[in-house]
Parts: sequence; C-alpha cells; structure tokens
Amino acid sequence: MAHEVKTTCPYCGVGCGVIARVGDDGAVSVKGDPEHPANFGRLCSKGSALAETLDLDGRLLHPEIGGRRTSWDEALDLVAEKFSQSIAEHGPDSVAFYVSGQLLTEDYYLANKLMKGFIGSANIDTNSRLCMSSSVAGHRRAFGSDTVPGTYEDLELADLVILTGSNMAWCHPVLYQRLASAKANRPDMKVVVIDPRRTMTAEIADVHLAIAPDSDTALFNGLLAHLSESGAIDLDYVSAHTQGFAEALQAASALDIPALSEATGLAPKQLRDFFRLFETTEKVVTCYSQGVNQSSAGTDKVNAILNCHLATGRIGRPGMGPFSLTGQPNAMGGREVGGLANMLAAHLDIDKLVDRDLVRRFWGAPSIAAKQGLKAVDMFRAVADGRIKALWIMATNPVVSMPDADAVEAAIKACPFVVVSDMQRQTDTARHAHVALPSLGWGEKDGTVTNSERRISRQRAFLPAPGEARADWWQLAEVARRMGFAEAFSHSSQSEIFAEHAALSGFENDGRRDFDISAHAEIEPADYNGLAPFQWPQPKGTAPQVKRFFAKGGFYHPDGRARFIAVQSPQARRANEAFPLTLNTGRVRDHWHTMTRTGKSARLSSHLAEPFVEIHPRDAQKAGVSVADLVMLESPHGTAIVRALVTERQAEGNLFVPMHWNDQFASKARIDALVPPVTDPVSGQPASKNVAVRAKRFAAK
Ligand code: SF4
Repeated sequence: MAHEVKTTCPYCGVGCGVIARVGDDGAVSVKGDPEHPANFGRLCSKGSALAETLDLDGRLLHPEIGGRRTSWDEALDLVAEKFSQSIAEHGPDSVAFYVSGQLLTEDYYLANKLMKGFIGSANIDTNSRLCMSSSVAGHRRAFGSDTVPGTYEDLELADLVILTGSNMAWCHPVLYQRLASAKANRPDMKVVVIDPRRTMTAEIADVHLAIAPDSDTALFNGLLAHLSESGAIDLDYVSAHTQGFAEALQAASALDIPALSEATGLAPKQLRDFFRLFETTEKVVTCYSQGVNQSSAGTDKVNAILNCHLATGRIGRPGMGPFSLTGQPNAMGGREVGGLANMLAAHLDIDKLVDRDLVRRFWGAPSIAAKQGLKAVDMFRAVADGRIKALWIMATNPVVSMPDADAVEAAIKACPFVVVSDMQRQTDTARHAHVALPSLGWGEKDGTVTNSERRISRQRAFLPAPGEARADWWQLAEVARRMGFAEAFSHSSQSEIFAEHAALSGFENDGRRDFDISAHAEIEPADYNGLAPFQWPQPKGTAPQVKRFFAKGGFYHPDGRARFIAVQSPQARRANEAFPLTLNTGRVRDHWHTMTRTGKSARLSSHLAEPFVEIHPRDAQKAGVSVADLVMLESPHGTAIVRALVTERQAEGNLFVPMHWNDQFASKARIDALVPPVTDPVSGQPASKNVAVRAKRFAAK
C-alpha cells in the first residue's frame, strides 16, 4: 500500500529532511520535507535524485567468504574468531576498524564501544578524519570541547558571511540556497568568498579573494592584527572569557601588509578592504570547510579563524560566529559517540583517566583503551607494515579516497584478514575483502544522524531489506557476542542503542558537558520512531530549544575560558621545479564521494560526465594541452589521466581535480593516488590540497 516516510538525506552534512513516498506499485519518489528545520522543503540535485539510486544492481546481497556465498553464522563466526585470535596472539592493537560518516549514530556507537571498551584498543578511525578532524581539533583547543557555537539561521541573520575553503554552492547546496535567498532579500548583506578557484559559490559573492593555497592562516592572522590596530577588539569579552590573547596577537603581527600580500597572493588593497569590512560589520559568520581542514596546517587555520571571532566577541550570538561545515551526513554523529581514534564517547576525553573511568563504568567494560589509537593515515601505514593483522572496513572505500591510494590498496591486499561491510559488492575496496558482509543502504536502514548545526534527525526505513542485508549495528553486536561480550551487546533494536547513547551523555554529568541529550535516555521505541529533529544539548528535564554557545563565555576548559592559539603562517608553497603545479582536490555538484550511489543516476552523471582537470590557459599552453585533451597528471606518489577543462576560473599555477572517480567509472582517474600521506600534526587530517604535481598531454597509444 502506498505510504510516505520522513527521513534524512544521506549525502552532505546539511542534513536535509526528505519525504519518501512508496507508491502502490513499489515505485519510490522523494521530495523535501517542508517541516525539517535544515531545509524547509528544499532539496539539491543529489537529494532530488535519491529515488534513482535505489536499484539493486551491483548490491552485495549475501555474506561471502573469499567470494563464495555463505551463511551469516559462518561469516560472523569467522570474523569473531580471526579478531579474537589476533588479539590473543598480538594484543588488542593488532586489530582495527575503519568506519565512515555514512554510518548511523547507532552503528558508530556500537563500533566505538566494541573497540574501545571491550577489545581495549582505540584503533577505530573514520573517513571523517579526511573531512573535518582539523575543525574538531581547533574547537577542542579553543573551546575545550568539540562544540559548533551557532546554527544555520545565523547565516541568514548575518550582515557579512565569509566562506573560506568552501564551495558551498556545490558541496552544501541547500545551505547555499538559504544564504542566496537571504542575500536576495537583504541587499546590504555582504558575502566574501576566499578560494584559489572562482567556484560557483563566488557567483553570489561581493568579493572573491583568490588566495594562494594554504595561506588562510596568514590572512586571518593579518585580520587579527588589523582588528587590534584599529581598536576593534572586544576587550571586555577577551578579559572576562579568554586566555592567551597577547601571545596570539604577537604571532599574528609577524607579517606586515607587503609580506601578507606576498604570502596570500592578494593585493594590499584587497587585504585592507577585507579587514575593514570585518572590522566594521558586527554580525559576521565565517564558514569554513575542506579548503581549510584538508591541510598540513588545518588546525592552525581553524584557530586563526576562531581567534578573530573570540577577539571581537562575535560568537554565539544571532548572526555571529565561526561555523564549520561538515562534509558527511553523520560526521557530527560520529564525533558525538567518539568514533575517532583520539576521542571517547559523549565528548569525553580519552586522554583523561577520569573520563575513561566514567565510560568504563557506564559500559561495564573489562578494559577501556588507555591511549589514543591510530588515525586514518597511520592506521593504513600500520596495515602496510604488518602491525595491523585484522581490519574491518565499514561503509567506505579507502582504496579510492585515502591519500597515497595505491599504497593503501597494496596494504589492504597484503593484510592477513580484511572484512568489508558495504552495500555494494565490488567497490575498489570490497574486491580485497576476505569476508564481505552485506549492509543495509539508505531507505532500508534506520537510526539517527547529526548535521552541521548539531541537529539530530531520524533516518527511517521505507524499503524492505534486500537479500540477506543487515544493519551495521547488528553485524557489530553479533561479532561482539561471539567474542564473548554478549551481555554488553544484547541490543535488539537501534532505539535501545540510541537510549544507551543518550544515557551516557548525561551519566554523572551534572550539566558539565556540551553534548548532553539525556532527555532521550528513556525513550520508548514508539517515541524513537516519531522523534522530531532536535538540536543538542537537551539535558534531562528540558525541552528542545535553539541553542547557541559561548555568547557569555562558559567554555569547557576547566577555568571556563576560551584559549587563543598563537599560530604561525606556514610556508605554503609545495610546488617545485620538478612538480611546478599545485593540485587541489575537491567535489562536484552531482556526485558524492566515490560515486557508489550517485554513479547509478544517469541524470546526476550527465552534469559532468567524466573526470577532469581545471587548468588555466597559460598552464595548459605550457603543458602542450588543448581544450578537451587528455592530461597525464603526475606526483611522486602516482599518476592519473583526466580530461582538460581549460578555464580562467582556475588561478594560474593551480589545478583542480574532483576526487570522485574510481576505476569502476574511469580507469586511471583515482586522483588520491597522487596525494602524499602528509597530515596535520594536531588533527591527523590528510592534506588533500596543495599537492605538487606536473601535467602533460596524454596521447593514448
Ligand atoms: Fe542532501 Fe546535502 Fe543536498 Fe541537502 S544539501 S539534499 S543534505 S546533498
């Protein structure tokens, strides 16, 4: 019988509400949910095409061992046996989970609980490491917690919105629609786009600053120094609620305007005009995304931005604040449950004995991980050198998306035991699995996700499970039981897991933590099914509310004060004589990650049909490349062949290539094969921008 279900889009971190309608004939159609506070009925091209991606073509429908169909019991027994054996022979750090922002919070929670509380290692990391871990680290350094201070509404209320390292028009399209429509209604509102490339986002910009790659810290340091010189510092806020301003200002004042101009590639007038605009506009929101995070100095960049907002007290008030845009649908949910190697559940700190002890007692865990685990790049290094002997990859495709992708593929191939849980049978990664476990996909699975503004929404099932596919949390619980942890993994539904997660957020809390949703700790399955989107925090005894953080201080460092971080402007340019061009990777409007879902839609694939490199006409000429030629890109780590898109939107000396294409859709187009495994020293996030490469025309033989 025809029916409608309210759910949440599985793509980006905007987290739009979707109404899926299943007709009498089983055909599915989707539309935006007019009542969802993230999108109020809007959807972008990817969200609108969701119904076109639901076919079972290429799906993994049954468990497999070595490519042979098997039963769930046999597959789960083998996973439990191999992980237990590795732990017994080589210790808990010889196993690892590599998970994904595509997992629902309930899946993430159990994966984290099993690894950190029962296996006793923190070797669980996620592809969210690749998208926003520098923001997490920046938040924690400045605020003492991983807290996003504002809400989407702030972008509409601001008089100045700065977008740095964000192609919001393509990567967070519905939020961009909200911003564009606010700007259309308020002619005085200004938008500044900071990006080496003139992206579609710059179409609504009053100012586009084509900054040199990785010079954001220099720019925001320059801004802080200017704010100080012009008397725009909120001295009351700084003295009442912060620490470290003098040191940060001293570091920020290292470059004068000519030196800043040299570092950023921006003219002195552009710099002065930008600084003055920030100085004279009270309601400022600064949004930042992968162009800031995916850098060897990403955390410093984040803190350079946070410093400017703290210095002016422009934080946590309507229309004011720094705003990190998360890439994935549940990057934020993963952070809440501690699904990163350096975090514990419920925003607790793995480095603090008191926090570890609290979680251990709550879980009744035998052996909580005593130290941080391996972050994504280090985890695959450990797979390569044999320290990791059993690896479980869930809902992600690291053979395409990790830096140094060829080396990651070789490591996975050589790993003694690899489990892959996925919807698709033949992803570039799943091909190398010893055990493949069929997972539910969007429309089939059920749980919660959290978007960039801390809003928790339900993903609901409206399709039957295909074949023998099962939820990821169920797979984890079954393996945990077989490893001897039956009591702690006795959950029979996602609502039970959510209730446990909510209870932990308030356990012995007393209002001390930012992440507290303990109002939902005793939620009944019926209420869970009907759960309306809400923002955290929501402690026990309170009603849902729109909450902003830090307008009156109240930071989560022990003294309640924020920290300014003294950050230096790094040496930005990596290109050299042998590899003279700077490659920045990114995303296109109509594809998502490695295209395992969006690649199924002809409509989405027709937007940009093949992988390409945006190259400035003069660089194309130097490389002997004409419009639509094939181009061979090379770095010391690998090669890729893509189509030339010659355009002045791309700054000279820089290239842009999207990261989506894999060997399934175009051979030799895995651009992450060129990216070196360089990471930010604080966050461990890989630098997927500012890669030194060379280009030449490729003539097929
Ligand atoms: Fe989905 Fe993001 Fe598009 Fe919203 S903006 S419909 S969450 S892809």
